[in-house]
Amino acid sequence: MTRTSDHPNPPRKPRARLRAAAHALLLGASCVAAPALGQEAPRWKAHDLERPRPPVVTPPERDLPVLPPSDAVILFDGRGLEAWRNEKGGPADWIVADGTFRPAPETEDIVTAQGFGDVQLHLEWAAPLPAAGTSQGRGNSGVFLMGLYEVQILDSFESDTYADGQAAAVYGQYPPLVNACRPPGEWQSFDVAFRRPRFAEDGTLVAPARVTVLHNGLLVQDAVPLLGPTAWLQHLPYAAHPDRLPLSLQNHGSPVRFRNVWVRELREDAEPGPPEGAAPPAVALTEEQLERCAGRYRPGGARETVYTVRRDGQQLRCNFYWNDAYLDLVPLSEREFALRHTAATIVFDADQQGAVVALTLRIGGSAIRAERVGAGE
Ligand code: MG
Repeated sequence: MTRTSDHPNPPRKPRARLRAAAHALLLGASCVAAPALGQEAPRWKAHDLERPRPPVVTPPERDLPVLPPSDAVILFDGRGLEAWRNEKGGPADWIVADGTFRPAPETEDIVTAQGFGDVQLHLEWAAPLPAAGTSQGRGNSGVFLMGLYEVQILDSFESDTYADGQAAAVYGQYPPLVNACRPPGEWQSFDVAFRRPRFAEDGTLVAPARVTVLHNGLLVQDAVPLLGPTAWLQHLPYAAHPDRLPLSLQNHGSPVRFRNVWVRELREDAEPGPPEGAAPPAVALTEEQLERCAGRYRPGGARETVYTVRRDGQQLRCNFYWNDAYLDLVPLSEREFALRHTAATIVFDADQQGAVVALTLRIGGSAIRAERVGAGE
């Protein structure tokens, strides 16, 4: 017997699949089989009812709404849906009332007028009260990043469904780490950090999309690599698509209410860590020149602290006493060296006979002079 309550309303899900296919056709892109980039194949089939449910955690009380910062793109401020369109490009035809909006009967999903790539997204939603339906039929909606990758909205408060389909799941792929749902009728928040997938010019996947989600302030998705666009009954491969696409909200037939929706566009080059080739250009010094700098140096006023400079073959290294590491010193000239990974320099001072007597460490706008107090190790 078909349990219609578990049925995720298939006319909704395949649209994302069709959109992905349409993008692929438009771009003449080649598809990349998922899972990609060495990801392990999912252990669980999508929607496996045997998959363990995440533990329930009661989120702390939060002050909502969370107001947008100055660089946010406001997608709903309580007044109108000017930032949204229906799927045909016309005015968004959902219901706006009391500073909130919700799907109208007989309407489709709505999409933003503006396209987005990497974003931080904040949205607040409330499941219908009184609660109606069970499993996937209970307060179902969803936010589709780039219109393709769904973070599930569902009333999962004391209501069971398959793990990868409950609230804050990456639908069909990743259950949330915990079930942080608030009761129906109460406002709750999603805060999402999304990095779009990267494609090479020939359409092949370079890096999968990644999504991080906080549900009511609790981490529920931790930079998970998406296996591909959201699809129902299958894992679709990635298909190359533009760098910016509208995000969409799903009309799954439930009057889920929304308010206070904003995004911050993220710099796409804001990757952590120093850029490659950060080391300054090096000059070649003789072993004798390097050896002259070796020694023990005591920074001004310090009793216990000693910097130790030593030569390892053609490489001068320095230990700054606070751990065992010896850090490479890259020569800029006979007397000036740079740290390889930190914006700092060491300049050695010599007396009139050419003997090194001190060094000056410059870092972060400060200069620390250390007198030479002995030979190296
Ligand atoms: Mg949904």
